[in-house]
Amino acid sequence: MKKVLITGAAGFLGSHLCDRFIKEGYYVIGMDNLITGDLKNIEHLFPLEQFEFHHHDVTKFVHLPGKLDYILHFASPASPIDYLKIPIETLKVGSLGTLNLLGLAKEKNATILVASTSEVYGDPLVHPQNEEYYGNVSPIGPRGVYDEAKRFMESITMAYHRFHGVDTRIVRIFNTYGSRMRLNDGRVVPAFMGQALRGEDLTVFGDGTQTRSFCYIDDQVEGIYRLLLSGYSDPVNIGNPHETTIGEFAEEIIALTGTKQKVIYKPLPQDDPLQRQPDITKAKELLGWEPKVARSEGLKIVYDYFKSLPAEVLERKAH
Ligand code: NAD
Ligand code: UDP
Repeated sequence: MKKVLITGAAGFLGSHLCDRFIKEGYYVIGMDNLITGDLKNIEHLFPLEQFEFHHHDVTKFVHLPGKLDYILHFASPASPIDYLKIPIETLKVGSLGTLNLLGLAKEKNATILVASTSEVYGDPLVHPQNEEYYGNVSPIGPRGVYDEAKRFMESITMAYHRFHGVDTRIVRIFNTYGSRMRLNDGRVVPAFMGQALRGEDLTVFGDGTQTRSFCYIDDQVEGIYRLLLSGYSDPVNIGNPHETTIGEFAEEIIALTGTKQKVIYKPLPQDDPLQRQPDITKAKELLGWEPKVARSEGLKIVYDYFKSLPAEVLERKAH
């Protein structure tokens, strides 16, 4: 049985990856320090013989006995309000955490895939963003703690690949949504849906003309799975190119939820990228991958999920 270590296993993406690898017949070792994650996301896996969980901070030395075939490094705060609250931890998990996991991959002769992000393109001057674009990131701005940690992650991953011959993958993930996101994590999908469910106005930051492109979790997991097995070491964008302005998106959520509330405007956070859309030519050509789930369909599934949560969870606000 192939063995895979998934860091950030108790988080949104990590927990869905655990499910997928279990389903594919792998032995899964989940690792998480629970700083933004929740054991509830993986408690259904605890009874399985194919699964074990390690409560561990990956910025500390990571040791595992026995063989290991794959590592997926997904540990990191990912929402702007999380990484602005814990900036040093964010820098450490992208840098020291990645270093530790690359060291483990080298020791075990394992293939490692690291979770990078569209944020490496910063506030992009090229649109849509392809993998050749170097990005437009402020190293000293508030978001720099996340963006630069991920840029360092990519550099050190390529260095281990070139200098130590480690088999590496880099996925540049664009805004992904799905069940198990925290309703209060501040990201726009749970923020708007939480507001609709609580009967509050929807808070659009700025004038709402900034754009994002939202990818449903199952599509994202499929892209990551294919990339891992591809043998391709340069970065690959995985995201849904269907772009929308945040203003239009708020209207879409209002229509979906049937809320009687309206949109209110709040200041745009510093360095909030004005546009974002993945160019997925590479993923299509190399992996034969493209997203399958339309936004209307994915959002409905996620809204039903949020509606099913207990009232006390729903009451937790992000802002
Ligand atoms: P999340 O906050 O739900 O999950 C992150 C998990 O990492 C949490 O369970 C957290 O407790 C854990 N973690 C953080 N620091 C750790 C440490 N030092 N040691 C061990 N565990 C630690 O976020 P997510 O949306 O699931 O994001 C997962 C990964 O995907 C992140 O690396 C993020 O940068 C990347 N990503 C996500 C998106 C997205 O749209 N969701 C977009 C781009 C990149
Ligand atoms: N946003 C918003 N209202 C909210 C939360 C977010 O208008 O309540 C905006 C935010 O300013 C950004 C976009 O939605 O332009 C996506 O934000 P998110 O935090 O989900 O992801 P990221 O900025 O990392 O793409």
